[in-house]
Amino acid sequence: MKTVRTIPDLRAALKAGPRPVGLVPTMGALHDGHLSLIERAAAENDQVVVSIFVNPSQFNEATDFERYPRAERRDAELAAAAGATLLFAPQPDEIYPPGFSTSVQVTGPLTDSLEGAHRGAAHFHGVTTVVTKLLNMVAPDAAYFGQKDAQQALVIRRLVADLNLDVRIEILPTVREPSGLALSSRNEHLSEAERERAHALIAALETAREAAKRSTDPADIRAAALDSLQQSDVELEYFELVDPDDFSAVSRFNGSGALAAIAARVGETRLIDNLLISPSGEPEDQPKDS
Ligand code: AMP
Repeated sequence: MKTVRTIPDLRAALKAGPRPVGLVPTMGALHDGHLSLIERAAAENDQVVVSIFVNPSQFNEATDFERYPRAERRDAELAAAAGATLLFAPQPDEIYPPGFSTSVQVTGPLTDSLEGAHRGAAHFHGVTTVVTKLLNMVAPDAAYFGQKDAQQALVIRRLVADLNLDVRIEILPTVREPSGLALSSRNEHLSEAERERAHALIAALETAREAAKRSTDPADIRAAALDSLQQSDVELEYFELVDPDDFSAVSRFNGSGALAAIAARVGETRLIDNLLISPSGEPEDQPKDS
């Protein structure tokens, strides 16, 4: 695996190699969730680009950006072992040179709700701008994202459809610890005690899934989840049941199920998670292919 830091070097390396090309955009501090994306990309492509870029424009809190874990040497070893052929690790001014003035924005309920409402719409505008740039730099046949960030994945599908970008978007299931805690680079910030407390997120989601076996009323399901959070020591930002196809609020629980999405702070660390819930309460963990 080769590491490149500039866009000309990235393009030259890609040109010299075979197609198809898969892209896995990340912010680094790789864990098994990222590696599942890289492994899938390696199974489906002859070149696999992993980008590592802690994108300043998608952070709404300066301290979150500053303390975001960075571990490039370890990341390079893990990415190579998972099948990456090219690591793209640019400095911020390679991506945002002086004079940079363009923003790519998906607008409306998809970016106004949940993460957009709590982190500000600029968060998603930062994501869509950098993802558009990465797609233009790499011109991959397929790009791989995680269901862990379900709203982001849907925003990216929207972006790709709306701008007629010629790339296949693959969304892969959330990888969890055996305890159920969703893997996240931000978990590195958690103390042992906080890690225990962080299980309240998956516990609330599983409570919602159980409640869906007893009631089809989203209000009942949400109430059960909020009740479980009462006994926890996390600071809830939101717990919502939304339509997995457009993130609109679910008023009736119908045949296609709902996505239960949660964000909460555990100490200083903000975590998100989600679970697809079917009306019968049966697991529906596999995100739908587009
Ligand atoms: P990040 O480095 O957090 O920006 O994540 C890079 C990509 O990895 C995104 O598409 C995430 O959705 C995905 N990802 C992060 N955590 C997980 C996880 N636990 N399981 C699956 N994918 C994940």
